[in-house]
Amino acid sequence: MLDNRLENRYLTLKFRRKDDFFSSLMKWTLLLNSTFEPLRVVTWKKAIIMVMLDKVEVIEEYERTVRGIYVSIRLPAVIRLNRFIRRQTPIIKFSRQNLYVRDKGVCQYCGTPFEHRELTYDHVIPRSKGGQTEWTNVVTCCTACNLKKGGRTPEEAGMPLIRKPKAPIWLPLLTKSLGIDTPPSSWRDYLYLNQELSS
Ligand SMILES: [Zn+2]
Repeated sequence: MLDNRLENRYLTLKFRRKDDFFSSLMKWTLLLNSTFEPLRVVTWKKAIIMVMLDKVEVIEEYERTVRGIYVSIRLPAVIRLNRFIRRQTPIIKFSRQNLYVRDKGVCQYCGTPFEHRELTYDHVIPRSKGGQTEWTNVVTCCTACNLKKGGRTPEEAGMPLIRKPKAPIWLPLLTKSLGIDTPPSSWRDYLYLNQELSS
């Protein structure tokens, strides 16, 4: 009996309250790469196993707790891999149009909104300093800020970014496939919610 309990101590985790108390989205955990890039969505059970195996760290938790015989754990909402994995295909194509949508048409240095044609693109770490042309290093930028920053890093130029650039995920498609209408609020810092990308 005791052996069984020990064996099952992680696997017999049960909801503290009735299942129907939980909205369906609580069953899902957003998995991020070590770089904070969203990778995919996993079930909370899988997420807890990954935590137990020390493969991930918990970044955000839900309010709800699951209770096992020996442990009581808050459901992980967002987890991050301890080791980087190279993803085969990006979820959203890296393009000027998608960058513009991701950055909501706002200069990422001064925060001013501009029309698409008035905005340019800036390598946060300049290419001359090894900066790559990818989601995490390119932002929309107004001409004035672009000129002012020149070939410098934001630190050198004294021009902090208003938001850290991340790779977007095609959230509407992802959530639709999971039957989630509204993504959990704790995911929002790690995703980009853009209606334009869902059409
Ligand atoms: Zn600007």
